[in-house]
Amino acid sequence: MKVWADRLISNGSVTRGVLFDADPNGRVLTNQTGVVPPPDALQLGVAVPGFANAHSHAFHRALRGRTHTAGNFWTWRETMYNAASRLTPQNYERLATAVFTEMVSAGWTTVGEFHYVHHRTDGTPYRSHDMERAIATAARGAGIRLVLLDTCYLAGGIGAPLSPEQERFGDGSASRWLDRWFSLRDALQDAGPTVTLGAAVHSVRAVPPEGMRTIAENLPVDVPLHVHLSEQVIENEQTHTVYGQTPTQVLADAGLLAPRLTVVHATHLGGSDISMLGVAGVGAVFCPTTEADLGDGIGPGRELADAGVRLAVGSDQNAVIDPWLELRGLEAGERLHSHERGRFSPAELLALGAASGYSTLGLPAPAEPGGFLDLVEVTEASERSAGTRWEELAMTATAADVTRTVVGGVSVDVDRPALAAELRSSIAELWGEIID
Ligand SMILES: [Zn+2]
Repeated sequence: MKVWADRLISNGSVTRGVLFDADPNGRVLTNQTGVVPPPDALQLGVAVPGFANAHSHAFHRALRGRTHTAGNFWTWRETMYNAASRLTPQNYERLATAVFTEMVSAGWTTVGEFHYVHHRTDGTPYRSHDMERAIATAARGAGIRLVLLDTCYLAGGIGAPLSPEQERFGDGSASRWLDRWFSLRDALQDAGPTVTLGAAVHSVRAVPPEGMRTIAENLPVDVPLHVHLSEQVIENEQTHTVYGQTPTQVLADAGLLAPRLTVVHATHLGGSDISMLGVAGVGAVFCPTTEADLGDGIGPGRELADAGVRLAVGSDQNAVIDPWLELRGLEAGERLHSHERGRFSPAELLALGAASGYSTLGLPAPAEPGGFLDLVEVTEASERSAGTRWEELAMTATAADVTRTVVGGVSVDVDRPALAAELRSSIAELWGEIID
């Protein structure tokens, strides 16, 4: 399959007439520059390499526009648990299909779905990975590349059992979670080239150190592993009270700090945490629109990058689904905090959203030989980006300017009015509401 872009914005420059050739699995074999489009190529105008949404909980989309009057992260979480308790494989497949379609329409070409709603509400397993299959089916239906980060979730807090609403997240022990993970890997063998399985430890709150150690030792070394880290100050305080350490130190002692690890949020870190993460060469996913929405704080993005951490972005609770706003949110947080501009250049932001994000999900850089042919086309006729130098597009475009998304060499076209209707309807179904 062949895809041609009139202009490709990548690595800080604009290249004219780029022709990609890919194998049937959507992997780039060659890319030529300065060529005219052959008749059998899909033709794009202005394009950038595809964006990886390195951290998502798809069902949180059902809370958008419903939680904004008061409270904090912990009160928001009560509503989120209410939504989680309503999920079934059937309604989740429907909702996730719509949410993943919204992602594709915004320019996310890959999603790392941090998934922990595994079982029935009383904790008994479904017959055959029904929830996980539903998510894989949803991703295929939406046309997005999926890395399913199946998540180990064992405790309701440090030293606390699961609460009743958390029962369906848990597997009882890390070794039982591992058993299910290997079984799930077998079950997803036939899911196709756009679905792969990764893993996650929910957080130091939800998995005790001995469980983390079991996972560090037994999860295959090539599998990407994600963990929520220091999103809230209270997590640091509780960890210090019980372990006398920071959450980062707990991860280090459990043997988790390694290049395959990606920490999510990394908002409240000390200097020694930053250097430990940098030396280990981990990834870090910042979710600026979520962190702003939930009042989490501003993480040390530039410091982490300077220490050697690979940064990525994610939409997390999906209150916003827009890679451009996540990237600009990262830079905006830096500016507000440091009183300086250009903490991340526009070229750095695009690379962070694409190659760096893909690396945190165990995937090669998109739109490069050996990587997947994942691209995002942006309109040249947008009032938002009119007058922009193409090299600075990351600072002006939005999801509304995305005209086509290409995943594995295949153009995914989205009917936006139909998508809005389906989101409205599937969210109403989840909440048991009637649309008037
Ligand atoms: Zn999360």
